[in-house]
Amino acid sequence: MTVAYFTHPSSLQHEMGREHPECPDRVRVIDDHLRSHGLLEFMQTETAPAASDEAILRAHSKRLVAELEQTSPIQGYGSIDGDTTMNPFTLDAARHAAGAALRATDMVLSGQVRRAFCNVRPPGHHAERDQAMGFCFLNSAAIAVLHALEVHGLKRVAVVDFDVHHGNGTEEILCDACDDGRVLMVSTFQHSLYPGNGVTPLSKKTINVPLDPYSKGDAMRDAVALEWVPALNVFKPELIIVSAGFDAHRDDPLAMLGWTEADYLWITQQLVAVADAHCEGRIVSTLEGGYDLQALARSAGEHVKVLIGAD
Ligand SMILES: [Zn+2]
Repeated sequence: MTVAYFTHPSSLQHEMGREHPECPDRVRVIDDHLRSHGLLEFMQTETAPAASDEAILRAHSKRLVAELEQTSPIQGYGSIDGDTTMNPFTLDAARHAAGAALRATDMVLSGQVRRAFCNVRPPGHHAERDQAMGFCFLNSAAIAVLHALEVHGLKRVAVVDFDVHHGNGTEEILCDACDDGRVLMVSTFQHSLYPGNGVTPLSKKTINVPLDPYSKGDAMRDAVALEWVPALNVFKPELIIVSAGFDAHRDDPLAMLGWTEADYLWITQQLVAVADAHCEGRIVSTLEGGYDLQALARSAGEHVKVLIGAD
C-alpha cells in the first residue's frame, strides 16, 4: 500500500512571532518522529505545489484573497486578528498547504497512492469563505473537498475533523454541499473552546459532537462509535478528507481534553475501516492543530502508522 507524504519548505518559513504556539517546529517534530521511527520509509515523499486561484476561489471569496495579498508584508508582520498574523512567507505557505491537500486528492483519486498525509502549515479549518481567523488563512480541507466534487466529479465526500477546536470555517464553506447531500461533515471539539460555535450545526446533516472540558478519550470513542461511524456507513463516502488536529491530547496547552496517543491510533483505525469498506481506503489527511510538540509528534506518528497499515 502506498501512502504519500507531503511537505513544503514554506511550512517552516511562515511564523507569527516568538512564543506563538502555531510555530514551524510543529512540522519539524512530526517529520523527525516519522523519520526516526522508520515510518517515512513506507511513504512516498512529495513536495506540495501551490494551490491555484481557481481552486482557492471555490472555497473563498475574492475579497478574502485580496485582503491576504494586501496584508502580506514585505518585512515584519501584517495582522489579521490578535492571534493570526502574516509574515512575508505566510501566503506562500497557505497556498502550498492547500496545494498539498489538492495534489494529495488528485493522487488518491487517480489510484497513484491509497492515502496521503500532509505535514504542512498553516492550518486551515477556522478559515471561513470570507474571513481568515484562528491561525488559519486558507481552508485546505474545504478547498480539497470542493476540488474532489467539482473537478473529479465525486458525488459524496466525507470531511472528518477531530481537532479540539470546532472547524467553523469548514462547516460554513461546506454548509450548502452538506445540505444537498454531497458532503458529510463529522466532528468532535471541546465545548465551548474557541471559536465557541458548532453546537447547533449550520446544516441539519452535519454531525458536530461537543465534548466537555476534562473529558477523556472514552467520550470521544462513544461519539465516534455511536454517531460518526453509523452516519459515515449510511453516507458511503467516495473519499474521506481528515482535518487532523492533535490538540485534544492531554498534554496540549491550549485545551482541556484528555486524549492519548492510543486514542489517535484508535480514531484513525475507525476512519480506515470506513474508507476500506466504501472507497478502497481513500483518505487524505491534513495537519491542523496540536501545540505540545512532543505529544504532537507522537500522536501524529500513531495516526500515520495506521494510515500506512503498520498498526
Ligand atoms: Zn485546534
